[in-house]
Parts: sequence; C-alpha cells; structure tokens
Amino acid sequence: MRRIAVAKGDGIGPEIMDAVLKIFYEAKVPLEYVTVDIGKWVFDKGFNTGMTPEARQTIETLGILFKGPMETPKGKGVKSINVTARKTWNTYANTRTFQTLHGVDTVFSKAGIPIDITVVRENIEDTYGGIEHMITNDVAISRRIITRPGSMQVIKYAFEMARKKKARRITCAHKANIMKITDGLFLEVFQEVAKDYPDLKADDVIVDDLCMKLVTKPDTFDVIVLTNLQGDIVSDLCAGLIGGLGFAPSANIGDHICIFEAVHGTAPDIAGKNIANPTALLLSGIGMLRHLGLMESATMIENALLYTLEQGVHTGDFGNKSISAVNTTQFAEAITSNFGKQP
Ligand code: NAD
Repeated sequence: MRRIAVAKGDGIGPEIMDAVLKIFYEAKVPLEYVTVDIGKWVFDKGFNTGMTPEARQTIETLGILFKGPMETPKGKGVKSINVTARKTWNTYANTRTFQTLHGVDTVFSKAGIPIDITVVRENIEDTYGGIEHMITNDVAISRRIITRPGSMQVIKYAFEMARKKKARRITCAHKANIMKITDGLFLEVFQEVAKDYPDLKADDVIVDDLCMKLVTKPDTFDVIVLTNLQGDIVSDLCAGLIGGLGFAPSANIGDHICIFEAVHGTAPDIAGKNIANPTALLLSGIGMLRHLGLMESATMIENALLYTLEQGVHTGDFGNKSISAVNTTQFAEAITSNFGKQP
C-alpha cells in the first residue's frame, strides 16, 4: 500500500486533519499514513526549522506530505515553518483552486456567475527569502529576488497545468509597470513560454487591476500565474469569492516532493473548539488522491462532500443561518453517511 507522510499541524490543524483522515478511513482509501513531527510545537522543542531530522528523512523517502496549517513562530530572524518546508524541497509551484460549490452561497453563486479559477503562485523566491534588515534605526530594507530559472519552472508548470485543465485563458499578473526589472523579468519569461503554447490564450494584467476585475468579473479568469507575495494576497481574495478560506485547497508542487494543504492558517481564534470547517483540507486531500492516481476514492469522497454541502449541512463559518451549524466532527460524519450519493 502507498505510504504518505502526515503532519497534523498547529491550531485547528489536528481537528481538521482528524476529520479528513476519518473520512479517508471510512472510504477505505488505500493509503498508509506515517505521522511526522513538524510544526510550531516541534520548533518550541528546540528544532529551529520546525521539523525533526527523522521527519525530514521520512518525507524525502515517501515524496508526499499531507499537512495541516502551521503557526509561524514569532520573533525577528525566525523563519516560517511553511516557507522552510517549501524551500527545503523546492516545491516551486503553489496551485490554489477556487471553484463555486453548490450549497455555498456567495454573491456570485446567487447571481448565477460560476467561478473556476486556479492561481499558480511562485513559491520559493520574491520577498519570501526573509532577506531584510535595518540600515539605520529608522530605515528597513528588504531584498526581492526573482530569477529566470525560478520564474521559468513555475510558469512552465502553469502552462502545462492550464493545458491539462483545458483552460480558455492563462493570465500573468504583475506590477511590471513599477517594478520593471523584477516583475519585468517574470513577465518576460511568461511571454517567452507562451510562444510554446499557441493553443492557449495568454495575456497579462497589472495586479491591482486584476483585483478589481476579480471582484467584478471573476468568471472571465481561468488560470492566473503570479510571483510569490502577490500570489499570496490574490489567493485570499479569490477565497473570498467562493465562500471563504474554509473552501480553498492548495498543492505545493515540486519535481520530487509535493505538499498538500489548505490555503488557510491555524485559525487561532477558533482552535480547540471543534468548529473549524475541514472542507479546504478535504479538497486538498482529494487533489492529493488524484495526484496519486486514486481516482475512484477521490470521486466518491468529492461526490459525498458536494452532496453534503447541497443538503445545507454546514459548519459555522458559512451557510444558511436558519439551519443550525454542525461541528467539525459532525460535518465529517455527514460526509461519510453520504458515500455513494451523487450531487
Ligand atoms: P488564518 O487563515 O489562520 O485565519 C484567518 C481567518 O479565517 C480567521 O478568522 C479564522 O478563524 C478563519 N478560518 C481559517 N480557516 C478556517 C477554517 N478551516 N474554518 C473556519 N474558519 C477558518 O490566518 P491568520 O490568523 O492570519 O494566521 C494564523 C497563523 O497561521 C499564523 O501563524 C500564520 O503564519 C499561519 N499560517 C499558516 C499557513 C500554512 O500553514 N500554510 C497559511 C496561512 C497562515
């Protein structure tokens, strides 16, 4: 049986991961889970990368990490555990899918405007190198690194993914009108790669204009590729379009290791209450099953999830307020009771 590494994470991580693994168990997904020690709690034990050497070795052997959200330790000079993991294994493309889900009402679903946007965010470079310092007591400086090979690998991935998705359009969002050299290089690579994909409509948009267009005409976008920081911000905007962070799955794709996780963080404000929405992590898990070729399991679980949402069953972060919310465990149970149903 295929083995994968699992890290439950911090905050709401263990609650939503337990819910998702229970659904996988009930669905008889043919996977074996090897729990690895990564997270803020590992950092607190003195491991400054937030992971033990054994965890690192296990992940490198198994090639797949399914993870809950992880808290970023506070303090200057301390690196984010998530950023460290993405860099350690060169997971250069962060794909985030935002789709209209029946039963999850938004202004767009009520207006009959369907949304199906995939954001591909460069995952390694940009300002996420953490190269920043004070040059005087009053002046802070940060370095932004954009490279041709780094841009090339994520943009090529985005085009290949867009072709597989049968996308109508692939858009590069940037701020090359102001950051002419860094964003200019990213855009130049995009236009270069586009020449090899004449079947795809490739265009570009300035990122602030993109934000305005996303909230007015989200159905005109399909695949959007961006640099790291802009991609991070635009992703949360897109999550808002389809009902919130509780519905936004993601995958960090590298050539050797892939990490599947929700877009959202540890939600400290609701942690420990068993009320978090596990849908984003479940959708990330369904994406992981498809990546592993476990299509039947993926489809069965996805159908049960969609059927459950259509029935109006919901956690407290969304949904019809006249139908009382269920907790995380009850939401997972509702999904397993709907195995075999079609949305
Ligand atoms: P957050 O995503 O944790 O929370 C933002 C808001 O969304 C909160 O109100 C929260 O309650 C809500 N929310 C998020 N997920 C939800 C869910 N599944 N169900 C219901 N409501 C949900 O963002 P934050 O508060 O800015 O970050 C908290 C911590 O998480 C920080 O330490 C941050 O660095 C970390 N973080 C980790 C990841 C990751 O592990 N990939 C991603 C983002 C943030």
